[in-house]
Amino acid sequence: MTVLPLVFDAPRRAKPPRHLADLTREEARDAVAELGQPAFRADQLARHFYAGVTDPAQMTDLPAAVREDLTAALLPGLLTPVRHQSADGGRTRKTLWRLHDGALVESVLMRYPERATVCISSQAGCGMACPFCATGQSGLTRNLSAAEIIGQAVAAAAAMANGEIPGGPGRLSNVVFMGMGEPLANYARVRKTLDALLTPAPHGLGLSQRSVTVSTVGLVPAIRRLTDEGLNVTLAVSLHAPDDELRDTLVPINTRWKVGEVLGAADDYARRTGRRYSVEYALIRDVNDQPFRADLLGKLLKSRLAHVNLIPLNPTPGSPWDASPIPAQREFVARLRAAGVPTTVRDTRGSDIDGACGQLAAADGIEDTVEGVPSIAVPVPAVEEGVALGAESDQG
Ligand code: SAH
Repeated sequence: MTVLPLVFDAPRRAKPPRHLADLTREEARDAVAELGQPAFRADQLARHFYAGVTDPAQMTDLPAAVREDLTAALLPGLLTPVRHQSADGGRTRKTLWRLHDGALVESVLMRYPERATVCISSQAGCGMACPFCATGQSGLTRNLSAAEIIGQAVAAAAAMANGEIPGGPGRLSNVVFMGMGEPLANYARVRKTLDALLTPAPHGLGLSQRSVTVSTVGLVPAIRRLTDEGLNVTLAVSLHAPDDELRDTLVPINTRWKVGEVLGAADDYARRTGRRYSVEYALIRDVNDQPFRADLLGKLLKSRLAHVNLIPLNPTPGSPWDASPIPAQREFVARLRAAGVPTTVRDTRGSDIDGACGQLAAADGIEDTVEGVPSIAVPVPAVEEGVALGAESDQG
């Protein structure tokens, strides 16, 4: 297996065209005014965007003469669906999206009896180089803009509302940042996305804080920054090993921030919010699933405000590893529970369409499928500053 370098600075690429979802409400009103329209049209556009309306003809509260212009100027289509793949009788749907510059990302919508969750991508590729993760092995292409991230959630909300997923029209209730990318390495845009998810309709998706989960490899300065924001979204930490020696190899960022530091930052988040965080742990046969590691993890977490989410490893191309056998999983769970640590085993929805955790790679053989997808003819603004880990500019 090749060992990839850690990449913090996203490659400089052309920015996506301007989109309302990247702007503050004030900026959007100014932009509309510059086009010679009353500022309140910005609110009308926002309402259409968050309701998933993309066809200008349906925006009947806008004068017909300006619908096309306003939409082109502030609601350009940033995400072009290349294909949908379904599993679980249609209740799990993975969508491959093509971005303005040809970059590809995926999102996965999962409908359960009592909730509907979309797993969204925050970067095209990922720079964190975890060897068991397909995205980590593909490297980082670029950060997504806020509008590109928000657009995935809006599309999922619209798919639910329009009854595209079996079970009749429904409501998107949960968003998890567990698709491609490391959300806290794209901090400013993820922060903006959180605002859009949490702002009540019609100016956002109106989700509750606890139903939004930010999952991180453990970028300590960024966890601390998130703690200072005063939000109460759910924090998930991808631990995968209780000891630094093993974690250094499974989650390479551990060479920079150790297990103790990551859990310390998560503890402070839990203290501030009063909410448990999740510890994600992919169970990999004979790598991190030994009984002694369960005991070590139990000891590490028993006095913390954390619960463990075990994920039987999903296979990825090129990786020699596979999931722990069921008896080893049971033993691991039993030992954690015996230590007093709340533990659940995650279901692996979508694994047959490579839509499960760590299987999103967006690479295989799609060249044919994207043929004929119109490229967007827009002037491309200057590139943005590279992103310094955990402290990037707030532009974007
Ligand atoms: N970069 C973020 C979010 C994306 S991954 C993070 O690492 O948390 C979402 C979750 O899937 C993480 O816990 C990740 O470690 C886990 N994961 C990655 N590859 C996996 C695989 N092959 N099998 C099971 N879980 C995996």
